[in-house]
Amino acid sequence: MSKKVSIEVGHGGKDPGAAANGFRESDINLVVALELERQLKRHGVDVLISRTSDCNDLAADFLPKVQLYKPDVHVSVHTNAGGGEGFEVYKQTNNLTTASYKLCTAIEKYVKEAGQNSRGIKTCNFLMLSIPHVAAYLELGFVDNKKDLAKFDTAEKQKNFAIAYAKGILEYLGIAWVKEAAVGFKVGDKVKVTGAYAGSANNSKATSSAAVGSERYITQIYSGFDFPYRLGVVKGDVSVGNTTGFAYESGICKV
Ligand SMILES: [Zn+2]
Repeated sequence: MSKKVSIEVGHGGKDPGAAANGFRESDINLVVALELERQLKRHGVDVLISRTSDCNDLAADFLPKVQLYKPDVHVSVHTNAGGGEGFEVYKQTNNLTTASYKLCTAIEKYVKEAGQNSRGIKTCNFLMLSIPHVAAYLELGFVDNKKDLAKFDTAEKQKNFAIAYAKGILEYLGIAWVKEAAVGFKVGDKVKVTGAYAGSANNSKATSSAAVGSERYITQIYSGFDFPYRLGVVKGDVSVGNTTGFAYESGICKV
């Protein structure tokens, strides 16, 4: 039988949750949760999600549905405010506290690996942690802290943390992570650059000279790398050759 995960997408509709610097928690949570759902489903996990659009979504309304669903894991997807910096995860304090701590630890590990610091595993009496199913309450970072926000201020970065969440949940469930195959693009495809990643990869310096908005042709496609800012809409990692050497560019979309 498939493993089951329920996802509470924090806030939505009339309730934006935390809001600062032009960002709303409800929007960030939705991007993260939808990518998390996609990643889990890709691994054969059954998912119950509280909302898939910007609509009113009360935890109190979702709770009875989760109770009926009986998930192996529940996660609440939230974003923080209040002047702190970093990721926070809340564990249960009921009789599932040991299992919940294990789940939180696994998720925290991958969030750190994805470049976010952690403020640790904490406790709080959140409604969704009262359920008799193993749960974690996730706070990605602080929207009202510009330095923290810079780590998740694009859908691409938000999805990267969703991948971190998925890796932690799957590890807890004993399901091996499977890299996404490089499909959807082929050599020769014309693409438009919507973002660029420049840094060091595979021990060689990768310098991106591609301007955002410019058009390129794909010369090579890789599926073997796990870039720090891999983009969800691009299936696999794509590199585009240019005159200065190799640029590993993510955030491209088909023209
Ligand atoms: Zn929240």
